[in-house]
Amino acid sequence: MTNHKLKKLSAGWMCELCQQQWKKKPRAKCPGVVWYDNPNHLPSHLIEAEQLAAQNLKPKGNAIGCLKRSKNWVWLFDSSDVETIDPELPPIYTWNNRPKDLKTPNQLYRYNRKPGDNPHGCIRHEGDWLFLYRWEECPIDDESLPPYREYGTAPELKTRSQLKKENLVPRDDAKPRGFYRIWREEWKTVWLYHADDCDWEAPDNFLTKGTLRDRYLLSKSWIARLGEPDLIRENPHHKSWTPMQLYSRQRVERFLADHAEEYSQWLDERDRYVAIFSANREAIAQGHERYLEAKSKRKAQQQRCLRCASGCATRQGFLCAIYPMGLEDWQIPCDDFVARG
Ligand SMILES: [Zn+2]
Repeated sequence: MTNHKLKKLSAGWMCELCQQQWKKKPRAKCPGVVWYDNPNHLPSHLIEAEQLAAQNLKPKGNAIGCLKRSKNWVWLFDSSDVETIDPELPPIYTWNNRPKDLKTPNQLYRYNRKPGDNPHGCIRHEGDWLFLYRWEECPIDDESLPPYREYGTAPELKTRSQLKKENLVPRDDAKPRGFYRIWREEWKTVWLYHADDCDWEAPDNFLTKGTLRDRYLLSKSWIARLGEPDLIRENPHHKSWTPMQLYSRQRVERFLADHAEEYSQWLDERDRYVAIFSANREAIAQGHERYLEAKSKRKAQQQRCLRCASGCATRQGFLCAIYPMGLEDWQIPCDDFVARG
């Protein structure tokens, strides 16, 4: 700040340096260069230092103009009299026109890389340079992570949810063989596993008590030993019916595997029981057949007795002169049948 170089006008004073005019002598100091009070009407060759810096340029000479922005002086320079600040600076881009393969330091995190020595571009950001990198050329940030795998570039590696669809689950000690990161309000790391590091695991589904009895041949006391059901569901047939008690298939099968010896002994005993029952069932069925056969023979015999010379109908019913007490099963068909007339 300097003193105004005042010149008397007919209507007041003006300064030959800043070219302001006053009615009375001013008290404020002089900026020393032409002051433009309307920043929207600047001569086109004037430019601010920060605008030059954003192009990797700096003014060679001193300010030749100024303006005031929120009470601060902003100096203006001749845009035709400039020089390069940093000859090594990579190409300058904006957020919008930067090549897609160039990444900011924040974006490098996605690939587990940190900024290297070789930026391929830069963006002016808040008065400073933000450098842009090719992630493949940058040093690895966290050495403990497996390699970054661009989505879809390693079909042999799969996420947990993809593996689950194939009934595979990474073993507890399985190390992921790759990862990628997705943006969900923050970077989220998705681990990728190889099928060789997985165990086959049947999808969990839920079994009713009926299934436990019919398929796993479990008795009430075995079901009680399983403990509480894993799920209680409304009865699909009727809401007011007892809710269904459902047991996790994986848990049931794990329990039976843990008690394999006892379980196979139980199946063995149960088998014997089932075998005895089916043998009896056959005998019962055979007996039933014999009963039906006897019944139809007796009916046929009755027809013959009615036509037999030894029989006669009385008030007490049908009587046979030879067998007044009736025929035993073994006497049917009757050897003494003689047709009447
Ligand atoms: Zn002045």
